[in-house]
Amino acid sequence: MSDHPDGPAPYGEGTRAVRAGLPEPVKNEPPLPGPVFAAHFHLPGDVSGPYTYGRDTNPTWTLLERAIGELEAPGRQGREGVDDVETVVFASGMAAVSAVLLSQARTGDTVVLPDDGYQALPLVREQLEAYGIHVRTAPTGEDAQLEVLDGARLLWIETPSNPGLDVCDVRRLVEAAHAGGTLVAVDNTLATPLGQRPLELGADFSVASGTKGLTGHGDLLLGYVVCRDAELAAGIRRWRKIIGAIPGPMEAWLAHRSLATLQLRAQRQWGNALAVAQALADRPEVTGVRYPGLPSDPSHKTAARQMSGFGSVVSFTLPDRAHAERFMAALRLVEDATSFGGVRSTAERRRRWGGDAVPEGFIRFSAGAEDPRDLVADVLRALDSAGSGA
Ligand SMILES: *Cc1c(COP(=O)(O)O)cnc(C)c1O
Repeated sequence: MSDHPDGPAPYGEGTRAVRAGLPEPVKNEPPLPGPVFAAHFHLPGDVSGPYTYGRDTNPTWTLLERAIGELEAPGRQGREGVDDVETVVFASGMAAVSAVLLSQARTGDTVVLPDDGYQALPLVREQLEAYGIHVRTAPTGEDAQLEVLDGARLLWIETPSNPGLDVCDVRRLVEAAHAGGTLVAVDNTLATPLGQRPLELGADFSVASGTKGLTGHGDLLLGYVVCRDAELAAGIRRWRKIIGAIPGPMEAWLAHRSLATLQLRAQRQWGNALAVAQALADRPEVTGVRYPGLPSDPSHKTAARQMSGFGSVVSFTLPDRAHAERFMAALRLVEDATSFGGVRSTAERRRRWGGDAVPEGFIRFSAGAEDPRDLVADVLRALDSAGSGA
């Protein structure tokens, strides 16, 4: 932690999670100060000090930003408790994604996106193109984005990709991109900072939705950008100021409170995801099971090199739409809902949204923190029920 004389102390991830971003203890004050609800702060005379107006800064954000910075870049805490990474929190993951893409690219620039990424990326692409920015796309798998990097201003990576769960080699892409003067941003939503740390893999930005596994209770939306370069960070902060996509103090505080259990949730949920993936792999009616933690998965080798955990999301395909709908309806412990990473398992037939290029029977499944035996039993029972047409 920040008060260790030689820089970062060798604390484990659970210890870091429960202490992330906490201020120095103050007698008679709570360990995690409550949310500060303020549109403006007392500001006599000249404009100075950290807190002036609520669209620019808020003490509740400050603590959350410190916490996320500590998790995304644990080896990067400066000596006197001063982070040498900068974190900027946003109202949602998309606010954070758009902040990077729209603040960094100018008319005439080229941006490289994945063609199998989050379903709102095609909308961002349209907006970039409307501003005269060239967009190239390539799949996440097999590092295919390497082929279209030439002369780009920014490379956007999403690994593991949502919902296909392909993985690319971040270091390899970063090396190629930096050699050509291209900035690299990684969407770290699926892995969370416990599963993957893009800045350590060389990326310029780690960007994520805090709505999913980071906060894990399905009760708030949040996003963040972490980077090392002060000038890049200033551009992101400026973007937040002019767009105003700021998180509410209540959401920021709830998110910070949730971080304390991040490691506990992640351990249970990632274990459950693996158990579900293994159970699915044994079923004849299930095809295309994808989970980067399965040793047989095409993503596993690369994932194991750059990730310390493989996330809570498993994807697979049932024979057709009707079969998938019967499966969804038969589940008792798994909510039919979009989003992922929460403590209660969720799943959905992804094609109902129309966007992703996936089969009609494709299910995106997010393992929660239920007892593994109960969860696997529920999935197997729902498969049996869907298979019998009941
Ligand atoms: C959900 C998600 C986002 C967007 O986050 P919101 O908080 O819903 O705005 C971005 N990237 C990925 C990979 C996501 O899963």
